[in-house]
Amino acid sequence: MDPLTTVLRAAERASHWHQAQRRKGAAREPYVNHLLEVARLAAEATAGKDPELVVAALLHDAIEDQEISAAAIAQEFGEGVAALVQEVTDDKSLPKQERKRLQIEHAPEKSPRAALLKLADKTSNLQALAVSPPADWNGARRREYVAWARAVVAGLRVENPWLSARFAEVADAAERAAGRD
Ligand code: ZN
Repeated sequence: MDPLTTVLRAAERASHWHQAQRRKGAAREPYVNHLLEVARLAAEATAGKDPELVVAALLHDAIEDQEISAAAIAQEFGEGVAALVQEVTDDKSLPKQERKRLQIEHAPEKSPRAALLKLADKTSNLQALAVSPPADWNGARRREYVAWARAVVAGLRVENPWLSARFAEVADAAERAAGRD
C-alpha cells in the first residue's frame, strides 16, 4: 500500500481505537488530537521521509491505553511499526511511579527512531500542560511533571535539533504557565 494511504488508515484506526478517550487537560480534548500532534511532529522532524515512524506515532498509545495487541498492529501495519510502538509502551502492570522512573532509566536504550517518537510525545504532552493543564493539578505538580519530562528527554539519543528546540520551547512555556506558587 502507498505511504499516504497507510498513514491515513492508521489515523482512522487510531480515531476509532481511542474514540472514547479524552486528554487529561481541562479542555478534555479528544485523545486523537494528541496522536495527530505527535504524528505531525514526527513527520515534520523527518521532513516526511519516514512514513513508518508517522504510522507508529499515530498508534503509539494503542497498546498502553486501549490494550490493542502488538500482533494486531503487526498484522495490519507491519512488524516495524509494531516494534516501534512496543518500544514506547510502558508496562502497565507496574505502579505509576515505577513506570515513570523506568522511563528515565530506559531512555538511553531506545533506538534512534523510538527516541524521536518519545521526544515528540513529550513535546505534545508539555504543550498541552502549558495551554490546558488538568484542572486538579497545582503549580507544584505541573513543575514536577515538566522536570520529569526533561529528565526522560535528557537521556534520549536524538539528533534532531528542530524537535529538540520545540521541546525546549514548550517545556519553558509549561514551566512559566505553572507559575511559582
Ligand atoms: Zn502519547
